[in-house]
Amino acid sequence: MEKTGIIIIGAGASGLMAAYVLSRKGRKVVILEGRNRIGGRIHTLERGLFSSAVELGAEFIHGNLPLTLRLLKEAGISNYPSRGEMWQAYNGELGRRSWNMPEWDELMVALDRLKEDISIAEFLAENFGEDKYALLRASVISFVAGYDTADPKIASTFALRTEWQQDDEADQHRITGGYGQLIDYLEMQCKVNGVEILLNATAKLVAWNNNQVQITLWNGECYLADAAIIAVPLGVLKAEATEPAALVFKPSPTEHQKAIRQMGYGAIIKILLQFETPFWVSSDASAIGFVLSDESIPSWWTQYPVPSNLLTGWLGGLPAEIKKELSEFELLELAIQSLANIFNRNENELRRELLAFKVVNWTTDPFALGSYAYDTVESHDARLVLRQPVANKLFFAGEYLYEGPAIGTVEAALSSGKAVAEQLINFIA
Ligand SMILES: Cc1cc2nc3c(=O)[nH]c(=O)nc-3n(C[C@H](O)[C@H](O)[C@H](O)COP(=O)(O)OP(=O)(O)OC[C@H]3O[C@@H](n4cnc5c(N)ncnc54)[C@H](O)[C@@H]3O)c2cc1C
Repeated sequence: MEKTGIIIIGAGASGLMAAYVLSRKGRKVVILEGRNRIGGRIHTLERGLFSSAVELGAEFIHGNLPLTLRLLKEAGISNYPSRGEMWQAYNGELGRRSWNMPEWDELMVALDRLKEDISIAEFLAENFGEDKYALLRASVISFVAGYDTADPKIASTFALRTEWQQDDEADQHRITGGYGQLIDYLEMQCKVNGVEILLNATAKLVAWNNNQVQITLWNGECYLADAAIIAVPLGVLKAEATEPAALVFKPSPTEHQKAIRQMGYGAIIKILLQFETPFWVSSDASAIGFVLSDESIPSWWTQYPVPSNLLTGWLGGLPAEIKKELSEFELLELAIQSLANIFNRNENELRRELLAFKVVNWTTDPFALGSYAYDTVESHDARLVLRQPVANKLFFAGEYLYEGPAIGTVEAALSSGKAVAEQLINFIA
């Protein structure tokens, strides 16, 4: 069996970025990717089913994110601001979102006073347990589920405080042609530098000692390397060994595995619907961007400012975990019912006007098993452990290893891939 320099398991943004950095320094890299495509949780579906390219996974650049923007510039890929107006639909009333909740100011003051990190559920119970705060509690829990896709019982209050104190309202962008452009660019650069990318190559067993790493795939094929970068999602690392993409380590890096269990990883179901007409647009609602609601598929967005007949539904956190075993058609029905209630439309009419749909259940996708990481009270310490290589042979990379305001994003994945490649170059001359 021939030995390769470095094997990377996973061709998502972090694995590809690591390969790009390593191969630029002349390292021999092989990537093993379990799916029949690269990109992982970035998946731009080219025009076909829908009348334009659509994002099944990552869609927005959340803020002024240095590495993403630098790579886009290097690749000559443009992006555009995409934040339309925020609307809300509660108890059947659709209107512009009002931020007029005086309790929200009280929440920010109480957050500022917090000295020791606890879960957001505990924080709310301790500080806002009275009946008069019921609406505030519901709105915080729904935000934690919707945006962070997190379980409030373990989500860190400190991390949420940092997130809510940032003012990035104006800074949301989309990539022209989709995030897939960035993946294509990284793939092209990797290939030019001699990186080999193997698809349908699901790793199962990672056996390591002080000299080498041996990786065995599901089909029994074996690969030997000087070192390996494990760039699979946190959900896959947390999974039981019986899951199709789960990895078994021999010997087991016990400290690292404990740290993996301490980190938070959310749930998400994304639903894309294309209609005959953009019925949500009116003279009053010409710039409608996001709608938050109390429906079973609660969050929706348009393609504003690009004229489009596409609506995207978003179900995150525990509600997504609870509904993850529903069939595609059951989820589609929930989406139609939700839209009918939000926009006061007849369900049958909406079904007739529906031209195309796609339900993307990332929570049951065996190569993702969820959405993205969120901070628990223990995440910071766990990350310190996971950022250390195991015997200079196993290096972990992925969005969940990034420490900072862009947790869970493509920026986080790219930053982690870059950092781990640089670390590996230093360790292995
Ligand atoms: C629905 C959704 C919407 C999102 N929206 C945004 C957004 O708007 N903006 C944003 O910045 N971020 C967004 N994100 C998050 C972003 O997509 C991720 O943080 C980022 O793409 C993760 O990159 P990664 O390389 O860490 O992991 P991944 O992209 O998941 O890559 C890991 C790779 O490992 C492969 N793999 C898994 N197991 C094995 C195995 N056993 N053997 C071989 N290969 C394996 C997988 O197939 C995958 O290709 C979103 C995520 C989801 C799911």
